[in-house]
Order: sequence, then structure tokens, then C-alpha cells
Amino acid sequence: MLRQFFSYYAPYKALFLLDFSCAILSGLLELAFPVAVKAFVDHLLPAQDWSLILIAAVGLLVIYLVNTGLMAVVTYWGHMLGINIETEMRQKAFDHLQKLSFSFFDNQKTGHLVARLTKNLEEVGEVAHHGPEDVFLAVMTFIGAFLLMLWVNVPLALITGAIVPAVAFATTHYGRAMTENFRTLFGRVGAFNARIEETVGGIRVVQAFANEDHERALFAADNGSYRQTKLAAYRLMAANTSLSYVGMRLTQLAVMLAGTWFVVRGELSNGGFVGFLLLVAVFFRPLEKIAAVVEIYPKGIAGFRSYLEFLETRPDIADRPGAVELGEVRGEVRYDDVSFGYTADKRVLSGLSLSIAPGETVAFVGPSGAGKTTICALLPRFYEVGAGRITIDGHDIRDVTLSSLRRAIGIVQQDVFLFAGTIRDNIAYGRLGASDAEIMSAARRAMLDEMIAGLPAGLDTLIGERGVKLSGGQKQRLAIARMFLKDPPILILDEATSALDTETEWEIQQALAALSRGRTTLVIAHRLSTVRNADRILVVTREGVSEEGGHDQLLKAGGLYARLVKTQTAI
Ligand code: ADP
Ligand code: MG
Repeated sequence: MLRQFFSYYAPYKALFLLDFSCAILSGLLELAFPVAVKAFVDHLLPAQDWSLILIAAVGLLVIYLVNTGLMAVVTYWGHMLGINIETEMRQKAFDHLQKLSFSFFDNQKTGHLVARLTKNLEEVGEVAHHGPEDVFLAVMTFIGAFLLMLWVNVPLALITGAIVPAVAFATTHYGRAMTENFRTLFGRVGAFNARIEETVGGIRVVQAFANEDHERALFAADNGSYRQTKLAAYRLMAANTSLSYVGMRLTQLAVMLAGTWFVVRGELSNGGFVGFLLLVAVFFRPLEKIAAVVEIYPKGIAGFRSYLEFLETRPDIADRPGAVELGEVRGEVRYDDVSFGYTADKRVLSGLSLSIAPGETVAFVGPSGAGKTTICALLPRFYEVGAGRITIDGHDIRDVTLSSLRRAIGIVQQDVFLFAGTIRDNIAYGRLGASDAEIMSAARRAMLDEMIAGLPAGLDTLIGERGVKLSGGQKQRLAIARMFLKDPPILILDEATSALDTETEWEIQQALAALSRGRTTLVIAHRLSTVRNADRILVVTREGVSEEGGHDQLLKAGGLYARLVKTQTAI
């Protein structure tokens, strides 16, 4: 894990060296200060030579100024290093996120993912900056101060050093407990992020059911467990800081007494004593910092682990090596003996075979849950077939690149997803960079132009999150306009008009009919009136395709289709 972590420093070698060397220099100056004071008290003070004292003061001033500069470098460029690494990791995580398959997202909560890309990586960034530098500096000042203490007075140095094993022991224990704690904490943050995300997304449902108290209780539970975890961390922190504080102060007291005794006996100079006390402060600084450091590190480690875990989640579906572009598509679609299940223990499709000619419109009808949507979801490889194969113009869809495959297929669904933005942005999503003329032409073909013309802001009208400011019919038209712009040779219409009232449905049918002209089209429809015009109708049940043929033919056959038509016309 450490190797992986350090690989992120590679592009920033110069920055790292600058930061690191300034930090070291600054550390050395800290060490030099007590020695200077010792010399001052022992030599300059008795001589009472004011010109020398003045020179020494100016020398100190220069040292302080240099150190200030060094500290500025360490603060700014050191953090720059951290934020650079953090930014890169976040970008990498986001890029990875977009590659993951539907099956991954089926089992994820958005809030957890958001926490992974935000809070967790922020902690990693902190460590990226403080990590190597602080450890090195701490060790350097620690050892440096100890050597200087030995040089000033060996017994005193040994008394001071006695605290080290105790601190090392406590820190190891504490650090381990804190890492564990932070891992839990990240999970808790994810949980209430997910809760907020879901409540905001579903706020209309929450309020419509007047279930605010229920949501409140759920949130309070998540919020409460977050608090519990934090409290556990604070208990650990309190124990650790007070223990180390008392240890250090006792050591200092011992040094005071022993030092005084040595001075009285003439074994230690006054300057040596003062210098030693200052060295003890320098020696303790890394120890005092441990509380802070031990907080940063476990957070960073926990964050980095969860980051690595995330990157290691391989997408189930990706381009196979040597995948080719699909190229120009005629639109012949074949399913050969296709079997599929979302989970290993439950099959949704078994041995499905069907063949659709270029430009043909095939309708799928049948009971809910029979697998109609699933059949269509396999074509753009949102999920991978378990057995058998699907081909487009004879190419196995697993042999072509995902991007070229998905460019060739357009999907219009019942619940249209629109982005918070303008009408223009949302239509242009069909082909990024389309001109206004092209966008308006697509809007016209989707019969959206009149509505746009009636809006004061026209194409620039903001439609709200997920398009909440539009009616169902308007959303559907927008989705169709987007599809005209995308212009795919193969089209999937999954219950595209099911949620609309009859009149709007009829209008949208016109737009869809225009859209499907000249394209291979797979239509799933609930209302049988909409499939009447299909070239062929397939009746899908849980057992597979049970009937196949034209409307009149199936009606005459008197099977499931005929029964479905009868019940619907009876309404
Ligand atoms: P239809 O479109 O004919 O109503 P679906 O293809 O949506 O049917 O669903 C077929 C079966 O697959 C159903 O039993 C459904 O519960 C299940 N299913 C659909 N989507 C998923 C999914 N993402 N994960 C697990 N099971 C699913
Ligand atoms: Mg469906």
C-alpha cells in the first residue's frame, strides 16, 4: 500500500524536494537555537561585551527571518503538493466511477460514493502533504535533540530519554485504535450522506406521504451512530493527550531537579542548563505533535484504503482487448440462444433466440416482470449475457467497443432522466457540440418547437433538477429531440408513452413514429394500441417468447395476445 501511495508523488518530485529540503532546514535551525542560547549564556553573558551581544542578536534575527521564509514555503508548497495529489486521485476515482457497470450501481448508495470522492480523499490529501515530511522531521528533531542533549549532559539526556519507550507503546496502540475508528467513521458519514441524498431525491414522496417523522427517525439513527463513533475517538484522544502530557511534565520536573543538582555541584554550566531545558522542549515537540499526527494518519490511511478498494472494483463490462469499432450499422439484430439472470440463482431469460431485420419495428408485449426490459438492456451491454450471444450486423456485441456500440443504439424510456440545466443543454446531450439550428430542427421533429417558442427564455429555459419544471409529455418530447440529434440506427422504446394521458400519448406516438422511421426499433409497450403498427409482435412471458406475428394474425390465433387485447379494450 505504501508503494502505491508514493507512486502518486512521481509527477511532483521537484515540489516534493523543495518542500522537504525547506522543512529539513527549518528543523535544523530549531535545533541550532538552544545551542546558540547555551553559547550566549556561557560565553557572551560573562564577558559583557555589548558589541558581540549585538552581533549575536542580529545573527538571531537573520535566523528567524530565514526560518519564517522556510515555513512559508513549507506551508504553501507543501499543501500544494497535497492538493495536487488529492485532485489527481479524485479525478481518477471519478473516471473509474463512470466506467463501472450497471450491476455495480444497482447495489450502491449514491451518498457513500460521494463521501468516497470528497471527504475521504481530503484526508488522504492531508496525509500526502504531512505524511513523509512530518515523519522525517519528527525523527530528525527527535534524534538531533537527543544527540545534542547527550553532548550537553549524559545523565540528564538519559533521564529525558526514559519517556520514549512509553510514548512509542502508547502511540502504537492509540494509532491502531484510531485507524479502526476512522474506518467506521467514514462508513457513518457515507450512511448519512446517502440518507440526505435519498431524502432530497424523494422529497416529493416523503412530503406527499407526510412521512417526515419517519425519515427524521431514520436520519436521527444515522446521525446518532456518527456521534457515537466520534465520541469513541474523542475518548481515545483525551486519554492519549493527557497521558502524554503528564509523562512529559514529570520528565521535565525530573530534569529540573537533577539539572539544578548538577549545576550546584559544578558539573553543568548555567548555559548548559538553560540550553538543555530548551532542547527538552524541542525533543518533546514531535511527541506533543503525535496526538495531531496520529489523528491525520489513520484518517489518511483509512481514506486511502477505501480509495484503493474502489479503484480495484473492476467493471463487469469493458472493452475486450482488440475490440473494434462497430462502424456503419445496417441494423440487423440477432439474439442467439441467450440466457441471462441478474443473480446466479435466478434466471430471467433462458435460451432466447430472435432476429430483427434492418429497419424493422418489433414490439414486445407481455406481463410485467417477464423480462422485456431485460432483453433490451442486454443489447447496449448494460448487462452481459450469461450464455449465447447477441449480434449486430453479424458482429458479436462483445467484440466491438462499448462506445461505438452505444453510439449506435438510442433508448427512450418511461422515466426520462434530464439534467438540471437548460433545454438546449439537454437536447444537445444527444450530440455534444450540436449547433442551435440542429437543436431547433431536432426540437421541431419532436414537436417541441411550439412549446419552446412560447417560453420567454426559449432554449435557455432552466428545467430544474431532473426536469421537474416540465410535464411528463414535455420531458418525453425532450428525450425524443435528444434522440433525433443522436440519430442512432437502432432504437429502443421502453414504455416510452406508458406514463402519459391518452391525448399526449397520441401526439408523442406521432413523434416516435417519425423517429423510428428507417431505424431498427425494439418497442416495449404496455398499451397495445401503440404496438398495433409494429411489423411484428412478440409476446414475452416468463417462459420466453410464446407467440409471434402481426396484430391481426395474433388476434385470430386467440392466444395470450388476443386475451390481452380483449381486456384492454374492455376498459
Ligand atoms: P419487464 O420489463 O418485462 O416488466 P424486467 O425485464 O424489468 O421485466 O424484469 C424481469 C425480472 O428481472 C423481474 O423479475 C425483475 O424483478 C428482475 N430485475 C429487473 N431489473 C433487475 C435488476 N437491476 N437487478 C435484479 N433484478 C432485476
Ligand atoms: Mg419493463
